[in-house]
Amino acid sequence: MSWEDGVRRVVPYVPGEQPKQAGIIKLNTNENPYPPAPGVKRALDELRYEEMRLYPDPDSGELVKALAEYYGLSEKQVFVGVGSDDVLAMAFLTFFNTGKPILFPDITYSFYDVWADLFRIPYERIRLDDVFRIHAEDYAGRENGGIVIANPNAPTGVALPLSEVEKIVSANRDVVVIVDEAYVDFGAESALPLLKKYENLLVVQTFSKSRAMAGMRIGFAFGNEKLIGYLLDCRFSFNSYPMNRPALAAGAAALKDDAYFREICDKIIETRERVKQELGALGFTFADSRTNFIFAAHESVPAKEIFEMLKERGIYVRYFEKPRIDNYLRITVGTDEEMDEMLKVLREYLGKM
Ligand SMILES: *Cc1c(COP(=O)(O)O)cnc(C)c1O
Repeated sequence: MSWEDGVRRVVPYVPGEQPKQAGIIKLNTNENPYPPAPGVKRALDELRYEEMRLYPDPDSGELVKALAEYYGLSEKQVFVGVGSDDVLAMAFLTFFNTGKPILFPDITYSFYDVWADLFRIPYERIRLDDVFRIHAEDYAGRENGGIVIANPNAPTGVALPLSEVEKIVSANRDVVVIVDEAYVDFGAESALPLLKKYENLLVVQTFSKSRAMAGMRIGFAFGNEKLIGYLLDCRFSFNSYPMNRPALAAGAAALKDDAYFREICDKIIETRERVKQELGALGFTFADSRTNFIFAAHESVPAKEIFEMLKERGIYVRYFEKPRIDNYLRITVGTDEEMDEMLKVLREYLGKM
């Protein structure tokens, strides 16, 4: 007998690199290239440092209220966490306890199987079709302990229409269906309107991408009051003060500047559409991304080679050495200048072949 026999062993999730060198073009973790809303700076400037000795509001009231108002829900329908990763982990812990396998796509956010393993939840991966689409029928009539889908999906960027999401939720009313909408603000349909009709739905979003606040760690979820109540019971059995004072103030401030939010989302969508054209001309193919990244494969040069070539030149994109996607690069949409620099390097390199 060794102390190691009592260890909960897990294979952890590996986040994208955060290089320390200056001058890097960082297109590898889907961060927003623009700063947070100006009101966020003011809110942080107004924080009183002497208040940091006090615990924050355990109910995160300021942020919950701002979210409820912005999205037209009751405060009891809102849950917040330390990034949506924290929200999703809490949701797995709270809702996936039947012992039956939960379902998610074979290609999706690679944290889902990590949480499932961490919490000892069995799971089954459902194959996306050859152009990376989810088919709602695949999630009907299949015994399961819950479902999680990212919509739009990551790292493919492909969005599922609301009518298809509804089919999945309605065919699985006896389990909780989690829809992870980390990228929804970049042009997909949110499942939020379905909350009125379905008790078994949890919609999860984040401030990390569309609100340019990955460094603040703010995620949130919406569901019916009973479902959110169960999530809060687990949350308060784990950590009473997940959200710190700066995050509460900054998050609430971000929601007040809607014009800025829309402006940066529109700008990223515009850049994305232009870069799609240019990548197409260079021999890349990709599904129709509704996110702030493009998941692209080149017609003749292996993704790994392009990934390494770009990295050598200080341009970081994401490459996954995994079945079915090991010839794809996930390229975050940065500023126009960053994308032009990347396109220039690609043009020179591919032109030489
Ligand atoms: C980025 C991302 C998240 C987590 O983001 P947080 O920074 O923890 O809010 C969750 N799901 C998907 C699909 C993501 O891409």
